[in-house]
Order: sequence, then C-alpha cells, then structure tokens
Amino acid sequence: MQLIDGKAVAAEVRAEVARTVAARRADGRRPPALAVVLVGDDPASHVYVRNKVKACAETGIRSEEHRLASDVAEAELLALVHRLNADPEVDGILVQLPLPPQCDATRVIEAIDPAKDVDGFHPVNAGRLALGLPGFVPCTPAGCLRLLKTVHADLAGAEALVIGRSTIVGRPMAALLVAESATVTIAHSRSRDLPALVGRADIVVAAVGRPELVRGGWLKPGATVIDVGINRVTGPDGRARLVGDVCFAEAAAVAGAITPVPGGVGPMTIACLLENTLKAAA
Ligand code: NAD
Repeated sequence: MQLIDGKAVAAEVRAEVARTVAARRADGRRPPALAVVLVGDDPASHVYVRNKVKACAETGIRSEEHRLASDVAEAELLALVHRLNADPEVDGILVQLPLPPQCDATRVIEAIDPAKDVDGFHPVNAGRLALGLPGFVPCTPAGCLRLLKTVHADLAGAEALVIGRSTIVGRPMAALLVAESATVTIAHSRSRDLPALVGRADIVVAAVGRPELVRGGWLKPGATVIDVGINRVTGPDGRARLVGDVCFAEAAAVAGAITPVPGGVGPMTIACLLENTLKAAA
C-alpha cells in the first residue's frame, strides 16, 4: 500500500511557485498579488485566511487582506469586489466563504472578474471546466488530481467514483476526471447502494463530510483512495481528532494507495491556490 503524501507534494508545488515568482522578479516584474476578502468573525474562516496569507508570503506572492464586519451590507462587499476587479495591482481575488446571510454568495462570486477568480467558483470558470476549456479550476479538486497523478500517470479508462456533488469539490472533480478520459460516476446523498458503486471503482474520491462513511470492505482491492473529508470527532479517549470520509485503518489494508487525513488533500488546496494566483498574474 502506498501512502500518498500530500504534504510532500504540496511542498514541491510551493517550491515551484516560489521559483517562478523569483524568476518574474528577476525579470523586473512585480510579484503576483492576491486580495483576500474576509467577512465577519467565523473562527475557521480566520484560520483559513491566515494560512493562505502566510503561504503567499512564503512563496513571494504579495497578499492583501480586506476585512469587513459581519453586518456589512451586500452592496458594500460588491463595491469592494468591483474595486479589486479594477485594480491593476491585484491579480487574484478570493472571497472567503461562508458569507453572512445578508450577503448572497452567488451574487458576490458572480461579481468577481473571471480572470481574477483564483478559487475557480465563478460560473464562467465552472462552465469552462465543464466544457473542457482552460480556466481557473477550484483548488481542492485540482489538488486531488495532482495527487492522483502521482499514482496514475494515465487515468484513461479508469473507473472513477466521486462521492459528493458539491460545486467546490465533487462536481469539478468529476469534470477533471472526465477530461482525463476516466469513466466517471458521481454518487451523492440520493444514490442507491454506495458500497456497490465503491466496489466497482479503481479510483475513489470521497468528498462527503461524514466521518469514516466509506468502509474498507467496500473497496476493490488495489483501488486508489483520495479522501477529501475533514471531520472533527471525539475519540474513545475523549480527545478531539480529525478523520476523513473514509475509514483509514480499514481502507489502508485493501487500497493500493490512499491519502491520510490530515496530511493528504488538505495541504494541496493552498498550494493550488498559489498556482492559480501565479496563473492569474501571468
Ligand atoms: P458539501 O456538504 O457541500 O457536499 C457533500 C456532498 O456529499 C453532497 O453532494 C451530498 O449529496 C453528498 N452526500 C451526503 N451524504 C452522502 C451519503 N450518505 N452518500 C453519498 N453522498 C453523500 O461538502 P463539501 O464542501 O464538498 O466538503 C466535503 C468534505 O470535504 C467535508 O468534510 C469538508 O470539510 C471537506 N473539504 C476539504 C477540503 C480540503 O482542503 N481538504 C476542501 C473542501 C472541503
């Protein structure tokens, strides 16, 4: 069984981004710049934004943080997005989700210039991905594909199962796998007989948000498992720990390759955000 080391792959991606940024600067060009918009005081969002800003600094990307109060009017948030769209010193714009209820996330994302949409959530980029055209790909599924490629240089004809159909992970993941010529099934909350679907798959990408939903006994022996889930649970010793959507202890005995949680998909998301920011600057 191969443990897919997301931390190591993410470190390679970051190093490559840092080298490209340095080469740009050596050419006399300004560093790529990412604007991060954070609304309200959701503690998890603050942690995510802090990690993104830190990762930018480590690779030489300039970042600017725009913090707005949790009761900000949607019009004010939209005005900020429009200012950032027009700012030639800003290459990428990221609005951290979730937004407070008075701000409509769809409207806010649609206001971002698709050429600066480094999260890849704008309908133009989602549409381009669905059509197999180049554009910005959401960071988490892009990271999952990168990890899959460390195991499978060629995904053509592979039976791939994506569990979850969210717009930020499951759907774009399925589109990426189709573009790689895999045979793709999408399972979701209304799917029948998930164990049978899992049992057919050479590749399983689980993005559900249910601790250890996928059991080891469901897997086809030798399958590659990418576990996107990040679930906080309390262990038998009363201590909190993170588990994925796949029961790692069981799956590791059956799978050919598997990502751990933490240390698998998680580190790849920010690494791919840095890559997207570089792409936006280029
Ligand atoms: P979501 O809640 O938006 O979507 C979950 C999907 O799972 C839905 O499409 C739903 O239909 C499906 N689902 C629910 N119950 C199911 C069941 N019993 N069988 C099959 N499908 C079922 O979640 P999301 O935003 O896609 O996130 C999924 C998980 O991935 C969460 O644990 C989240 O924390 C994690 N996540 C991790 C990263 C990362 O950087 N590693 C990024 C995004 C999300």
